[in-house]
Amino acid sequence: MTGQPKVLHYINGRFAEGEAGVYFRNINPFTNEPINEVAEGRKEDIDAAVRAAKQAFDGGPWRTMPVEKRLRYLFRIAELIETYSDDIAYLEALDTGIPISQAKKQAARAAENFRFYAEMVKTRLVGEAYQVNGQFLNYTVYKPVGVAGLITPWNTPFMLETWKVAPALATGNTVVLKPAEWSPLTANKLAEIIDEAGLPAGVFNVVHGFGETAGAALVAHPDVRLISFTGETTTGMDIIRNSAATLKKTSMELGGKSPLIVFADADLEQALDAAVWGVFSLNGERCTANSRLLLEQSIYDEFVARLKERVDRIVIGDPMNPATELGPLIHRDHWERVNRYIEIARQEGASVHAPGVPKGLERGNFVPPTLLLNCRNDMKVAQEEIFGPVMAVMSFADEEEAIRLANDVKYGLAAYVWTSDMKRGHRVAQAIESGMAWVNSPNVRDLRIPFGGTKYSGIGREGGHYSFDFYTEVQVVHVAVGDPSIPPLGKAAPSSALSAERT
Ligand code: NAD
Repeated sequence: MTGQPKVLHYINGRFAEGEAGVYFRNINPFTNEPINEVAEGRKEDIDAAVRAAKQAFDGGPWRTMPVEKRLRYLFRIAELIETYSDDIAYLEALDTGIPISQAKKQAARAAENFRFYAEMVKTRLVGEAYQVNGQFLNYTVYKPVGVAGLITPWNTPFMLETWKVAPALATGNTVVLKPAEWSPLTANKLAEIIDEAGLPAGVFNVVHGFGETAGAALVAHPDVRLISFTGETTTGMDIIRNSAATLKKTSMELGGKSPLIVFADADLEQALDAAVWGVFSLNGERCTANSRLLLEQSIYDEFVARLKERVDRIVIGDPMNPATELGPLIHRDHWERVNRYIEIARQEGASVHAPGVPKGLERGNFVPPTLLLNCRNDMKVAQEEIFGPVMAVMSFADEEEAIRLANDVKYGLAAYVWTSDMKRGHRVAQAIESGMAWVNSPNVRDLRIPFGGTKYSGIGREGGHYSFDFYTEVQVVHVAVGDPSIPPLGKAAPSSALSAERT
């Protein structure tokens, strides 16, 4: 073990081992040696966490305390995340293989998530009021939903956990978080931080464990009123199915196969920077990665030549080294899956370009940055999410074909368009079936905008005030301010026939 203590669940304000007392091993992706042991949650642990969260919601002070007071806790969590940001980045790099320089940015973003939602609740969680014909006043109020079940993936785990926990707590819900089994360390750190921030017991709970057991028990629990899920599309489908019996609200942030389109008139240097960064940062394990590169025919050869040069110079190495640009993939199983796709690409006729993995890194789950050149859009590797440092590259003849290829995929998460013709930039961006599109821009995201996908990439949007639609229930109160006329049923004079019958 590399010196990390056991990870326990965090239930009702206490760190606790599971009721069954079983643990699973957490593996370092750089060495494939165990890091530590993690409590493996089962249904009983989910039941205990939901019980605590429900008590805290129904009887505790969280949702009823003055909003300013509740938000002070969120600001405190943000401060503590900043205080511990080096530890968080270290744990994230250790657990996931994300290069430390990139993990640091993710930790900063996590603090921002708490601060942002605290401010949003103060300024934007506002109702509406309607005067109706001088007779009524109708107004809306936003209420927390109840116990929120949050299920998160292993890519950028800390940032994605805070992306859900912050709005859920800020709006007054209580939470049970089920983090991904391959990346438990920073979820545990979040529990420690929230414990230190002094939130009332039961408001925030973490149960570690596997999806099919702990995750499924959370989805099936009748006292959990909503599930916010980020992960694979097929898992999202299971969760929707399994949540139907208890009629939960669900929010689905799922997979992607996003196109980056470069027209010949684009700023090619910038487009190149964006294409390389967008798919090879975060080890390619990014839901919005531009995993399909569509190049206008006339620039294909030149762009690919420059792309190869860049790819060959990406620094592959120890995630703890600040100079590393690409680290190992999260897990051996995932490494095998990504390698299988590269083999499929060869069989399908793509030409594979990748530098070798430097000597000395054999124990880690390294896949070098890989270009699948001369792809066709109907190839499996152009259609399915690989979720690694692998980009399918193909060409197009004109705008119409670019749009057709971009849309000819089941996913619809992100899209990137590079052109100097701004009319075309807007036109193409709007023609693409994706929840989000960037024009002449890398994937930079303001927290105020809606985040999410269409088609098989998800249902619903989170981010900004859009998160309130999910994490709150809107209630309308109708008040009569005049004397509205009410149809006087039962006030008519009794008819003689009817009274005769009744006697
Ligand atoms: P995954 O679907 O395998 O697992 C995600 C989480 O779901 C884990 O916590 C897992 O334990 C849990 N889970 C698995 N089966 C479950 C079940 N039957 N019931 C309840 N919970 C269950 O996904 P992953 O491999 O961890 O993450 C990678 C995927 O996430 C990729 O497809 C990626 O595109 C997607 N992703 C999407 C976004 C987005 O915002 N659209 C962001 C990040 C990642």
